[in-house]
Amino acid sequence: MALRFFNTLTHKKENFSPINKKEVRMYTCGPTVYDYAHIGNYRSYIFADTLKRVLLYEGYKVKHIMNLTDVDDKTIRNSQNEGKSLQEFTQFYAEKFFKDIKALNILNPTKFTKATDYIHEMVDIIKKLLKKGLAYKSEEASVYFNIRKFKNYGKLSGLILENQKENASGRIKSDEYGKDNAQDFALWKSWDKTDGDVFWKTTLGKGRPGWHIECSAMSMANLGEQIDLHTGGVDNIFPHHENEIAQSEGVTGKHFVKYWMHNEWLLVDKKKMAKSKNNFYVLKDIINRDINPIAYRFWLLMANYRTRVNFVWEALEGAETALKRLYNLYIGLGKDIGKINKEYQKKFKECIEDDLDTPKALTVLWDILKDENISNDDKKATVLDFDKVLGLGFEQTKKDIEKIRTEKIPKEIQELIEEREQARQNKDFTKSDELRKKINSLGYEVTDTPEGQKVSKI
Ligand SMILES: [Zn+2]
Repeated sequence: MALRFFNTLTHKKENFSPINKKEVRMYTCGPTVYDYAHIGNYRSYIFADTLKRVLLYEGYKVKHIMNLTDVDDKTIRNSQNEGKSLQEFTQFYAEKFFKDIKALNILNPTKFTKATDYIHEMVDIIKKLLKKGLAYKSEEASVYFNIRKFKNYGKLSGLILENQKENASGRIKSDEYGKDNAQDFALWKSWDKTDGDVFWKTTLGKGRPGWHIECSAMSMANLGEQIDLHTGGVDNIFPHHENEIAQSEGVTGKHFVKYWMHNEWLLVDKKKMAKSKNNFYVLKDIINRDINPIAYRFWLLMANYRTRVNFVWEALEGAETALKRLYNLYIGLGKDIGKINKEYQKKFKECIEDDLDTPKALTVLWDILKDENISNDDKKATVLDFDKVLGLGFEQTKKDIEKIRTEKIPKEIQELIEEREQARQNKDFTKSDELRKKINSLGYEVTDTPEGQKVSKI
């Protein structure tokens, strides 16, 4: 079976055939580093990671770029609220992001690109768009893209400008807006006092880029004018990706992206996540509940990336229980690695090649682990092979467990013991209890004696 992906642009599954047979070029819209990324954001990155792992599994070389939006309306607003420089503020959240993706076993892209490192390239594109008559300068010296001058505007999101005449007039300076508010959008925002000390002095004047031009510039600078894959969440389709097409194709006159791929929404308690609704979660919330972050990855893989999923804690806890069962089955296979079972590998490949059908691929994983006609050694080789795509960290988990069994008292446990001692002195018994549970989950037991806490391996 050939590798097939659902292309948002054509609304159908298509056989995958990269522009350059030797190397797939892929771009993922990365985080805006203005706050902790939420679990809905991580659905996008786990989806992009699975896609990349499938390509690598199929033998492709992949050049993958993920950006960090470190200048836009939100980063400026929040850094000012905290009284920090834009650089110091965004660096903090970028580091948190790197830590989170490591915990989720997301492979690093070939390169992370920071928007502020590409101001020159953005200015260059904007000047070309001005020259081509696709953009214009406003009276306050900002530059806007003229959506009526780009004949394919709306091709990704299905927006029909003719029917939107009433709304499609005017222009919008804000980075984010809805489909019913399609307007000329800002490429370059001339400085005003709300920007504070965030500005660049360029041939376009003193100002800063709009959000959408950032991705066009970073993609083009690192991957060339035409790329194979561009990923993001469905909420990126309009206006962000529609605008990227307008900017990139407007300037080059060439087709920008061959396959646009988007993951569906993650809802929490059947609602869109929002801080105001008290249903807003970040990865730290999962870790604080003593749930392995990989359980979140595993839970997402149980659904196709193109279906909406509804996050509830019980579902995640159920996923963790199932994941622990898988780990235990794997550990029970012993030390030796045999040969990959070709029959199961074929079944597995058929699933992932069909637009990343991870729910079906997981059933193949369960099936082989339960199959009594296959030797443990061969099962182990096959599970490790599948894990190149699933990223559930079988071998790593085993190493972690072995490490705990063979080492004295690891530093991590010692630190938790000290933290617990502090909590007990403060008579914070809820915290002390939580820490005991955490220590237990890491394979150690703690007993309180008149001499203090005693630690031993479970
Ligand atoms: Zn983007």
